[in-house]
Order: sequence, then C-alpha cells, then structure tokens
Amino acid sequence: MKPSRPSSRSRIGALLLALWLACCAAAPAAPPEPLAPDVVSSPPVSPPAALVIDRLPPDFPHGGEERTARDIDLIVVHSIGGPICKSGDVYFTPASGSAVFWRDWFIGEGGKSIHYVVGRDGDIAQQRPELRTAGHVSFGGVMTEVNRRSIGIELVNRGDGIEPFPEAQLNALSALVAEIAARYGLPPEALVTHAALDDRMQADCGGEPLRRNLDPGPLFPLKHVRVAIKSP
Ligand SMILES: [Zn+2]
Repeated sequence: MKPSRPSSRSRIGALLLALWLACCAAAPAAPPEPLAPDVVSSPPVSPPAALVIDRLPPDFPHGGEERTARDIDLIVVHSIGGPICKSGDVYFTPASGSAVFWRDWFIGEGGKSIHYVVGRDGDIAQQRPELRTAGHVSFGGVMTEVNRRSIGIELVNRGDGIEPFPEAQLNALSALVAEIAARYGLPPEALVTHAALDDRMQADCGGEPLRRNLDPGPLFPLKHVRVAIKSP
C-alpha cells in the first residue's frame, strides 16, 4: 500500500516536538540535593523516640552505693538472654516479657541490678537511679570499677545472634543513650557492650570453649546506636 502524505496537523505536531527537544531536552539537569552526612555514613535513623520511662516511687529503698555525676564515663549495654551450657549444647536463655517485667525481676533477684531495661516495643523501665551504682558487670577486662563508673542498660532480647533487635527498641535505646550522654558530656565511644568488657571463658561446652558473656550479641548495631550520641 502506498504510504499517505502526512497531514498539515501532524507536520505542525512534529515541528513543536522538534522545538521542545531543542529548547528543553538539552537544558542542564538541576543539581542533586546534597545528602545529609548521617545518610551517607550510617543507616537511616528514625526520629528519636519520646522518652517515656516507668520509674519506681521516689521513696523506693534502692541498693547500691552513692556516687556523683563526675564518676560516670561509660554506658554498658547488655541483653537479658545469654549463653549457658546445657547437656553439652550451647543454649540461650529465653527473654520474654516487658521492660517492667524484667525491672521487677531484677528487684526480686537481689544479686544483679541495672539502671534501665528497654523492651522490644521500646518500653523503658528504670530500676536504679543513675547516681547509685548497679551490679551489672563482674569483670571489666582492662577497665576497673566498671560498676562504679557506668550506667547499665539491659535490652530484652535473647542475645543469640538470631533474634533481631526491633526498630522500636533501637529507637528507644538511641533516645535514652543520647539523653544520658548529653547530660554527662560523654562521647559516642562511651557506649560499650558487655561482651567488649568481659572476654572470660566458661567451662567447655561439648568440647568447645564458650564465652561467659556475649551480650548483647552479634546482631546488636553498636555503631548505629552510637550515631545518636553527639560528641560533646
Ligand atoms: Zn551482660
């Protein structure tokens, strides 16, 4: 079939398209929006969670020793769960329950104590006032008097490297450590894990050596949480 000649309307359309390509398609693209430094160097950080903390009554009979703000230069993060050897197998103790549940467990436990517990839903409970020591680190490696100089925070998690840390929990922890660090003038490096302080081994388990403390476990994003702390 013989092709038909283009109509005058389609010729005008082609002309307009050519004009548009000539004037607009060659226009330089707008420069990209600069990325915020945090976006470049770390995963996205959600807005800080509002700090809602379940506190004990002011007249609650606390243990521990009195100290001053100048004594505090560390924040130690733990997880409730941890490794034990059970019939020759490594077993991680379960950690079900809210922050208040575990805060109350620490009160009844008697031996161990902690300043804060952060639950999976971002719920926070305080057991020990910050200006009283808590017993959460029994050995600090090269550091001495860790309990004297630190604030201890427990995360409700198995600490087994399998259970993830929910975003709500990490947001609440980030908001809590940022607020604490700002009050005491602490740098991001003041936030440390229990595992980094205590590298002692417990008895072999099924012929394999087993660390006493691995918490809060390999899935804990220490660098990500440290980003929340602004250097003084
Ligand atoms: Zn611990």
